[in-house]
Amino acid sequence: MSARVLITGGAGFLGSHLCDRYYSEGWDVICMDNLITGAESNITHLIGKERFEFVKYDVTNYIHVDGALDLILHFASPASPIDYLEMPIQTLKVGSLGTHKALGLAKAKNAKFLLASTSEVYGDPLEHPQKETYWGNVNPTGYRGVYDEAKRFAEAMTMAYNRFHDIETRIVRIFNTYGSRMRLRDGRALPTFFRQAMKNEPITVFGDGSQTRSFTYVDDLVEGIYRLAESSEVEPVNIGNPEEITILEFAEEIIKITGSTSEIVFKELPADDPQVRQPDITKAKRVLNWEPKTDRQTGLRKTMEYFEKMVQSDV
Ligand code: UDP
Repeated sequence: MSARVLITGGAGFLGSHLCDRYYSEGWDVICMDNLITGAESNITHLIGKERFEFVKYDVTNYIHVDGALDLILHFASPASPIDYLEMPIQTLKVGSLGTHKALGLAKAKNAKFLLASTSEVYGDPLEHPQKETYWGNVNPTGYRGVYDEAKRFAEAMTMAYNRFHDIETRIVRIFNTYGSRMRLRDGRALPTFFRQAMKNEPITVFGDGSQTRSFTYVDDLVEGIYRLAESSEVEPVNIGNPEEITILEFAEEIIKITGSTSEIVFKELPADDPQVRQPDITKAKRVLNWEPKTDRQTGLRKTMEYFEKMVQSDV
């Protein structure tokens, strides 16, 4: 019998790529998603396959799964700043109650548990680049607090289940990731810039664009997560591409790669927008023998093909 994985948030951007990876590795895959930010179109190619099952469900409620489970990947959560501004309570609930329920299921099934955490646990960081040992600079009552604090709680809960209930747990801190299946209108910089550039509309850079991010191509991220799940590392591990860029340079790169005539316009910087973000991946290299393989030019070109199709059907 093959190994069986439950992926919460499995119809989302990252979750659906993980469904693909585990399916292609021969696993039985259960994808659970309430589709508030995920989309069935991300998994239609898997629906109807023998080793794949989709369950539409909100994991903030008690989760029941028939049969054995070997692994739970807890990826359910809104993950774009616009989403968690619009759904602050769902974001808090899925990070706290949802993580609790998913850990309870891991305990009942004696399954390994992997938490999707985030670079947002570092907040607007005072240490640069960010190592896993940095405790962060988060505003608990700000607009981003609903996501940041939920994920910080989720990490604490995961460690508690590890220490108190002896559950095998893993925590990945995910940095900005891009690739196919990102929603064109999720408000994040990359899909927004692609949409605007492809329509030759003004590119909206927030603030003066001097804030930095480090963008990881989705296939690299999935490889890192797969390795982490297979490893014995319990403490959090950063997975991200350390290639750092300012948001203004990033907008210019997307204009160039799309051959757009768009101009850049500057808009107000959202509250608590981190000024810098770059992963220190020394630990991932050491414990997982992982590092990103896809440079930004290659990753952006592949992603552009996806967005070209999306923009054509976007009204
Ligand atoms: N950003 C921007 N224009 C947009 C959307 C985002 O300049 O239309 C900026 C945003 O303020 C942030 C960076 O791009 O500094 C990355 O934002 P994103 O929403 O992708 O994710 P974050 O890294 O902030 O979670």
